Amino acid sequence: MRASARAERVVAGVSLRTRLFLVLGALFLVPIMVGALVLALVIPGIASDRLQKELAAGSVAVSNEIADECQLLGLAARTVALESASSSPAEAVRTTVRSDYASYAAVLAPDKTVAAQAGSLPAGVAGPGALTSCTRSRQAGPVLADSVPVTGAPGVQTAVVARVLDRAFLAKLADRAGMVSGQVVLLNGGRVLASSLPPDQTKRIVAETRGRDGVTEVGDWVTFARDASQASPYRVIVAAEVPGTATGSILPFALILLAGAVAAGLLVTSVARSLSQPFADLTAAAERVASGDLDARVDGLPEGEAGRLGDAFNRMTTDLRRNMTALEQSREDLRDSLERIGDTLMSTHDLEGLLQVVLETATVTLRARAGVVLYGAPDQLRVVAEHGLHAAGLSAPTEITAGAGVLGRVVASGESIRGSIGSGPSELAPLATEPGEGDILATPLRSMGAVTGVLALYGRENGKPFDATDDDALRTLSGQASTAIDNVQLHQEAQRLSTTDALTGLWNFRYLSMSLAREIERSTRFERPLAVLMLDLDHFKRVNDTYGHARGDAVLRELAHRVQEQIREVDTFARYGGEEFVVVLPETTVDGAAQLAERICVAVRRTPFQSEGEEPLDITLSVGGAAFPEHGSSAATLMRAADRALYVAKGEGRDRWHVPGHSEVVQGS
Ligand code: GH3
Ligand code: MG
Ligand code: MG
Repeated sequence: MRASARAERVVAGVSLRTRLFLVLGALFLVPIMVGALVLALVIPGIASDRLQKELAAGSVAVSNEIADECQLLGLAARTVALESASSSPAEAVRTTVRSDYASYAAVLAPDKTVAAQAGSLPAGVAGPGALTSCTRSRQAGPVLADSVPVTGAPGVQTAVVARVLDRAFLAKLADRAGMVSGQVVLLNGGRVLASSLPPDQTKRIVAETRGRDGVTEVGDWVTFARDASQASPYRVIVAAEVPGTATGSILPFALILLAGAVAAGLLVTSVARSLSQPFADLTAAAERVASGDLDARVDGLPEGEAGRLGDAFNRMTTDLRRNMTALEQSREDLRDSLERIGDTLMSTHDLEGLLQVVLETATVTLRARAGVVLYGAPDQLRVVAEHGLHAAGLSAPTEITAGAGVLGRVVASGESIRGSIGSGPSELAPLATEPGEGDILATPLRSMGAVTGVLALYGRENGKPFDATDDDALRTLSGQASTAIDNVQLHQEAQRLSTTDALTGLWNFRYLSMSLAREIERSTRFERPLAVLMLDLDHFKRVNDTYGHARGDAVLRELAHRVQEQIREVDTFARYGGEEFVVVLPETTVDGAAQLAERICVAVRRTPFQSEGEEPLDITLSVGGAAFPEHGSSAATLMRAADRALYVAKGEGRDRWHVPGHSEVVQGS
């Protein structure tokens, strides 16, 4: 198991091309090896079979050749006899040997002595007289010989010829017997008479074939032995080397095998490369994509699966590139949205500005074509923010009240609406004063838990309807917007409470201080006139004492109202404390201040103070005025001057005003 797992790991680390090479190589090489094995086994068998037959025939042929040589020697002996009679014996024997009719020739005298001879006899032969005819006697010896009587020649009686069985003759014998590389050994019984092989090899072959006829393998040699027979008195052994062991017979086969292996290797390499190249190209392209290069493509792959794979890869990278671009775009949108939300939180004092930013964020983030925010009391919803309505060919919804039309239903139910206006559920039936068709996604806006508006998006830029994810996103946004609205309103309320007087709604002392300081600073810088009036109700304690504190409060509120009507927008009217008030008058001289003081006194005095069902009260007040910079160059000195003037007015009998240095006398009756 572990070994196979290790093998798998090794294979996994090998490239596709190498694997293909190995597999294809195995597929090609196995048949080649098997073929080679078969040939290696069969060819020597065939060759050896042929060799055995060749040797068997050769052994017969050698016996026949020996018999034929005997016949030829007979002819040669007769020729020597005839020529000895007709010319000279010496010439006859010389001619016979020179012409290779025999290797030895001699003419013997009647006493058996040699009269003439040519050639030589081997050492084991006693002499020409001892030679016997191989045609007449069946005796095997180291030479083949024949002899005939010589007639008609004086002094000679017998002509003798012989053929020595030497290596040269044996080679000729083998050649004549048709054995190209065969060797011959001739024996008489167990005794070697002649051999074409070296002595030790001859000895070994003779030893191993002793007593055995037919085929015998001796080392690298195949032999065929044929015992003496009618045809030949010699025991004949022919031998040849086994062909398989000869380099010459293996070499062509080895070359063919090598050429086949090389051709198979080249073919396998080429096939492996052509099969694996597309995958190598794809792998390289995929690695480029993985390293961030989305422009990577694979082209020129062969048709078929690889081509389709390449096309799919190219489509994939194109889509990937497009999606990345879209992703980057939406990331930029998101960043813009976050910045806008940030801006919104920075400017939370401005409710309409906040709602405009929330709307733009929703429109851009959800890729809506247009959007609108309606805000206010349920029966007084008005458009406070809009985005893209004109470009989308829509007009802003008007006359929307809770419960009526699409947007009115959102406000009344406090539930989001998503769908197509004018189709489907009845709640999507629009009023004539709101968009009458197209996709809509609308969600309520809340302040302090109550629905105080609606945010609606119309149509998608890509034409697709809004989905549940958009719905969730808009709800989240409107939830955050509601929190921001709460903050704005809390802030505004806190602001109001900190600078206004709860009883009269006028600015309080704190605001008065800030405002007066600001106006003095402005007047100083631009050298502009400025005046203040200090007001104090006359005998107000009596009102409280006689009619109660509540009536006193009502008088204070009424007074605030009456004075308010006499002053300008730019004037600051504040409750200074108790039943004392101050009016700050920018761009006003001593005379202007005197005139206003008079008007205020008249407005209070002229009509009795009366609430419904109550006794009318005649109320008067006294006013002291001071101008900048003649009566005071700072807030404190100016106020003190006004206070002194008020004191003067009180002292002079009340229901009057006093402004030091005014040019004309304005006196109440
Ligand atoms: P004078 O003409 O000298 O100004 O007489 P006066 O009674 O108006 O002056 P005084 O300072 O003696 O009394 C001021 C009174 O104003 C005392 C107080 O009861 C009353 N007062 C101050 N603040 C309020 C208020 O918020 N509501 C009511 N009802 N009365 C107030
Ligand atoms: Mg007072
Ligand atoms: Mg008073």
